[in-house]
Amino acid sequence: MSEPAREVEPAGDALLSALVRESDVPALVFDRDFKVRAANAAFCALIGCSSAQVFGRNFLGTLQTPSVEAVRRLRGLEPGRHDQAQVWHVLGTGEAPLAVEYSFVALQGPERLLGGFARLRSGDQMLIEQLAHLYDELEKRHRELKRLHRRIERLADTDELTNLPNRRAFDAGFEREWLRHRRNQKPLSLVLLDVDRFKSINDRYGHVRGDFVLEAVGQVLRAGVRATDLPARYGGEEFAVVLPETDTPAAVRTAERLREAIASQSFPQLEADFRVTVSAGVATSGGDFRPSDRLVLFVAADTALRSAKERGRDRVETHRP
Ligand code: GH3
Ligand code: MG
Ligand code: MG
Repeated sequence: MSEPAREVEPAGDALLSALVRESDVPALVFDRDFKVRAANAAFCALIGCSSAQVFGRNFLGTLQTPSVEAVRRLRGLEPGRHDQAQVWHVLGTGEAPLAVEYSFVALQGPERLLGGFARLRSGDQMLIEQLAHLYDELEKRHRELKRLHRRIERLADTDELTNLPNRRAFDAGFEREWLRHRRNQKPLSLVLLDVDRFKSINDRYGHVRGDFVLEAVGQVLRAGVRATDLPARYGGEEFAVVLPETDTPAAVRTAERLREAIASQSFPQLEADFRVTVSAGVATSGGDFRPSDRLVLFVAADTALRSAKERGRDRVETHRP
């Protein structure tokens, strides 16, 4: 060592202190509470701390969390016995953690102290280990980040109340299906559904139970369409279903089936004979109607929905080009 070896503070045992002090390898003595009782200049240089900072400090506090357990185990070491462990030091200099192989020895004597002597590997090997460690950390964080990202995406695309795709996800899915429809020239249908007189349900039973009705409608929609269809909660009490490769008659049959399933749903939580109905509008791109834009198809389905409302609700109307 270029720096003269110096003792941090006298340990209880002068001989022991001297041994540590004279050692060229990083060495320290700590007690059963892991409090550092002696450390030499090589140790201080290794972990990047001044000698004054090291004395009395908890040795575990210089370690990365996963290494703490390995060192804690030393408590059980019988006097005179050795143990070896590789630990990762968190450096005072803020650099990447450093792997150090230690030989630990439980010292004889009334104080039950432990000595630790670092066995330093060549610079190359340490560098490789540090890189491997950094790589592991990076991988771990990368995986975690990906997981969080997927979760955020799922949350951002899902309506909390019904668990159906929300409007954002609907728009993206509708666009995807629209492009596919333009390529494959198969008909594409859109069904818009709106709960009838929902405002009065809220007014009568309160919003919480109103939400309960929306949840049930969501369940019916999810259960009542094919896996390739795209049901969504479009807005408050408005729902939409994109039906790829479906012509008008098939779309109307689907809409009727959904309407009937909703109308026959009972809600004992609201009132024994309470029933809810929906109105639906169907529009199909294909055949006589070939809109240039998916928004035109949407407007067509919405117009059909308005006419279902005007014609008395609880019914399905079809856009006629
Ligand atoms: P119509 O048959 O013409 O569709 O009548 P309506 O009462 O269903 O239509 P309107 O658009 O007047 O009212 C919709 C109501 O839906 C008003 C709004 O407070 C309620 N609403 C929208 N989103 C939610 C929601 O998330 N939860 C609850 N409980 N109510 C909602
Ligand atoms: Mg509405
Ligand atoms: Mg409504």
